[in-house]
Amino acid sequence: MTDPRRSLSIFGSTGSVGAQTIRVVEEQGGAESFDVVALTCDRNVELLAEQARSLNAKIAVAARDECLEELRARLDGFPTEAAAGGEALAEAAARPADWTMSAIVGFAGLLPGLRCLERGGTLALANKESLVAAGRLLTSTARKTGAMIVPVDSEHSALFQLLSQERRDAVETLTLTASGGPFRKCTMEQLSRVTPEEAVKHPTWNMGTRISIDSATMFNKALELIEARELFGVDPESILVVVHPQSIVHALVGFHDGQVLAHMSSTDMRGAIEYSLNWPARLPSKLKRLDLAELSRLEFEAPDEERFPATRLAREVLALGGLAGSAFNGAKEAALDAFLEGVAGFLDISRAVESVVNRMESTNGFAGDPFDLAQIVDVDRVARVRVNEYFSANPERG
Ligand code: NDP
Repeated sequence: MTDPRRSLSIFGSTGSVGAQTIRVVEEQGGAESFDVVALTCDRNVELLAEQARSLNAKIAVAARDECLEELRARLDGFPTEAAAGGEALAEAAARPADWTMSAIVGFAGLLPGLRCLERGGTLALANKESLVAAGRLLTSTARKTGAMIVPVDSEHSALFQLLSQERRDAVETLTLTASGGPFRKCTMEQLSRVTPEEAVKHPTWNMGTRISIDSATMFNKALELIEARELFGVDPESILVVVHPQSIVHALVGFHDGQVLAHMSSTDMRGAIEYSLNWPARLPSKLKRLDLAELSRLEFEAPDEERFPATRLAREVLALGGLAGSAFNGAKEAALDAFLEGVAGFLDISRAVESVVNRMESTNGFAGDPFDLAQIVDVDRVARVRVNEYFSANPERG
């Protein structure tokens, strides 16, 4: 049984992971079982207010200042406090909660995640971008305060589960699987014509817009490579990627004795969310069970880094070290914005990221302090500026 009165917060509660987390919390008793401290959104205050009322949250925060008035109006007559803006978000993250879901998308999730780790407790981490940009800072903060990071990304949840009973010094390889996205079989010419509407349609997972497009470019797997390195502390060379279109095997661990353990489950994020909420217990779940006979076939193939260079770039970023991850993530986010706005083509995303990381490396290097939040934020900002400069200088799309 879950502790009857655990406290929890959900950052990004209105998004794909956030809403699924709300569902899991409701299935486990909602306000009867949990003290809900904070729920947050960027601007979807209608859904946020609905969630806050139904879970009796202490505070609801919208990241955008201009949403405050509407949020207040929607919570009128309810005890939930309404707040808005970046400072309010960070303040809400600093409020004590036993368990916190980090499900804001992008670099914006870094500060709330960091504030949560600074006060201890358990951080269920879906926001991979914060680990890519600031992995050393987050993991060292967790070590200092005794906070626990439980990964929610399905591959990393799988690795966390596979490694829980094993000695780390017996591990030889960690393998992340990738669906390969909707364009796995496309030629370069076809890739050059992909639109955001096509890129957002993921073949196996139902996710937010940005991560769906990151999956189509394989940048999602690139971020996950760095995420695995930061979470599990293994050599980058021992982290492998294999394309597995059915997305049933999420990760594998290979040991020095030649044995391999694999983690399988259906393609439903609630599995990893439930695991993180119940950890270290495993509670009965209503989720659909795997039927291997029905599936009948699981396929695996090597990734093609010619057509999808993102994972190669991630390995180069890992080799650069220092603050390179912040530049990589910031450049990727800005290049994705440019693709969504129609300024960049699908293939331009990786071209821009590679060009900007190389340019920043050759001008300043990445030798700054990866434990210094101000430096991390500044590298992220510069990378975004450089991406915009790249697209001004290279207006042709492809
Ligand atoms: P969504 O885009 O669906 O949701 C993002 C959430 O963050 C929403 O609550 C959104 O608010 C909020 N948000 C967006 N921008 C900001 C900002 N600048 N400041 C504060 N809050 C903001 O994303 P997903 O749920 O798909 O992904 C969330 C994270 O989880 C990402 O890091 C992703 O990589 C990771 N992840 C997602 C998976 C999935 O299945 N979706 C699987 C594994 C990892 P609003 O609703 O108001 O826009």
